[in-house]
Amino acid sequence: MDARRAQYLYDLGITVWQRRELLNDTASSQSNIAEVSPDDRDQSIASMDWPALEQAVKACTACGLRAGCTQTVFGVGNRQAEWLVIGEAPGADEDKQGEPFVGRAGQLLNSMLAAIGLKREQVYIANILKCRPPGNRDPKPEEAALCRAFLERQIALIQPKLILAVGRIAAQNLLATDIPIARLRGHVHQLHGIPVVVTYHPAYLLRSPGEKRKAWTDLQFAVRTFKGGHT
Ligand code: URA
Repeated sequence: MDARRAQYLYDLGITVWQRRELLNDTASSQSNIAEVSPDDRDQSIASMDWPALEQAVKACTACGLRAGCTQTVFGVGNRQAEWLVIGEAPGADEDKQGEPFVGRAGQLLNSMLAAIGLKREQVYIANILKCRPPGNRDPKPEEAALCRAFLERQIALIQPKLILAVGRIAAQNLLATDIPIARLRGHVHQLHGIPVVVTYHPAYLLRSPGEKRKAWTDLQFAVRTFKGGHT
């Protein structure tokens, strides 16, 4: 195992025999679409290309969150990605920088991806919500519903081979369920024929490092699912 991979596993709380040396080594053109009827709006979004979709997200004031955030956070990464990572909503850092998962949780997400051999730039990363909820509160169902068409269009344009839902909010919203995350993990769910695997949110893992091993199990499960080795 090379040093960098061991460091990613270490970030994930997975102890490997090289750990101590490694630690030393690595120390170093749309109008406001909220104004049309919900069906027309969703239909219009469903036919957008990337530039139109980006513009529509920027212009959206459908749910009111836009009034309280700095900017929309569209999504980032490879638009032909095989892996699509979906989180909850922008936090303070993401709201400032306009990019998903750039704060501490983002650093851990990068390590989680790297642990399974994926660079951040290889995957696409998006959120259930494009605007930061005040005080990082949970998204309200009506906010998630109004933002859904944007995410659906991103999924349709990317056509990923696997969706990794990180955290309870992302998983429950995507799969339209209130089943607890503990029971959603370890199963292959489907969204429009795309396999969806659920794991813990990196922010939760930062608060509960004891759960990192379970996240590592989920990531390995996701890789097996991606490779078609799991039924
Ligand atoms: N948490 C999320 O779910 N998404 C982000 O973009 C940042 C933190």
